[in-house]
Amino acid sequence: MSVPFLDLKAAYSELKADLDRASQRVLQSGSFILGSEVEAFEEEFAEYCEVEHCVGVANGLDALHLILRALNIGAGDEVIVPSNTYIATWLAGSYAGATPVPVEPDQETYNLSPAKLQAAITSRTRAVIPVHLYGQPAEMDSLNEMAGASGLTVIEDAAQAQGARYKGKRAGGLADLAAFSFYPSKNLGALGDGGAITTNSADLAEKIRRLRNYGSERKYYNEVKGFNSRLDELQAALLRVKLPKLDEWNQRRQNVAQQYLDSLSEVPLLRLPAVPPDVTPIWHVFAIRHPKRDALQAHLSKEGIGTLIHYPLPPHLQAAYADLGFGPGSFPIAERLADEMLSLPIGPHFSEHDINDVVSAIKSFAS
Ligand SMILES: *Cc1c(COP(=O)(O)O)cnc(C)c1O
Repeated sequence: MSVPFLDLKAAYSELKADLDRASQRVLQSGSFILGSEVEAFEEEFAEYCEVEHCVGVANGLDALHLILRALNIGAGDEVIVPSNTYIATWLAGSYAGATPVPVEPDQETYNLSPAKLQAAITSRTRAVIPVHLYGQPAEMDSLNEMAGASGLTVIEDAAQAQGARYKGKRAGGLADLAAFSFYPSKNLGALGDGGAITTNSADLAEKIRRLRNYGSERKYYNEVKGFNSRLDELQAALLRVKLPKLDEWNQRRQNVAQQYLDSLSEVPLLRLPAVPPDVTPIWHVFAIRHPKRDALQAHLSKEGIGTLIHYPLPPHLQAAYADLGFGPGSFPIAERLADEMLSLPIGPHFSEHDINDVVSAIKSFAS
């Protein structure tokens, strides 16, 4: 590949000296679980997200799951999720014993449509989990207002949105609670698995702190049946090196995105991402839409351009969710997006040369 979809080695190279120093510090400390690094990262990430509390956990899926557990959401309950998300959003509901109830996205932003939310709310609905898909915040004011009117909790799936803003406020502080993933390819990525919950509720933060550590506050005394889902000291130390770079790296992605938007605006049949005026996306993914997506992807691959599809099969058509009984046609917008979306390479270490290669390869398909 002349332009790979993702280059994580470049990220390591830029911060090598500091990352190496941080990992040495942890290896020599003799403290690996729930120590000073996790505590410091939680404080720093809460401050970054402009919220009161952060709890580090093992990954993004656990972050969502532990939130639902802390809210006592379980068997018999329904949780509203986007029809076009990564399956983790649905699985969190299933892990808790609740039923995921899909709602279709807005056709322009690909985020959960407030216009379609009301019809999905039943007497069993307990929570709504909007996803800030591709790093662009969902329409939170409308969603919060409608959910609030029905007594529902709103949980941000901010796994793709570290640093994104909505009406000036950071993702992570846009609802009752938020779940983050630090999977290596995310904009703020660990060098392994990691995740976090942010919230302004001291009570929920404390419940989640207990749940992530066997339901225990005092060693060997367990108040509830908890889980083992801890962010480890090594990952926390590495994340503390990367967090101060996040805004700059997100800005570099923004520059790449802007060049794509400027250079590809005239390409026939190709649909570029739409950014509403009140959001600042962080371009975790730069996803275009094309009716001949598979042919375009094959052409780009031939030209040495790596692409991915987010996501090729919506959760309701996955074998894993056959039990819910949704057939093809149940969520036509999600199904259409699955057929037409294509993610172009983007990242903080992307060069002018890379951008030009991608743009000219796309133009040579169109012409
Ligand atoms: C990555 C991701 C998750 C899950 O994160 P993990 O850390 O891999 O468990 C959840 N939701 C969305 C939308 C994601 O992109």
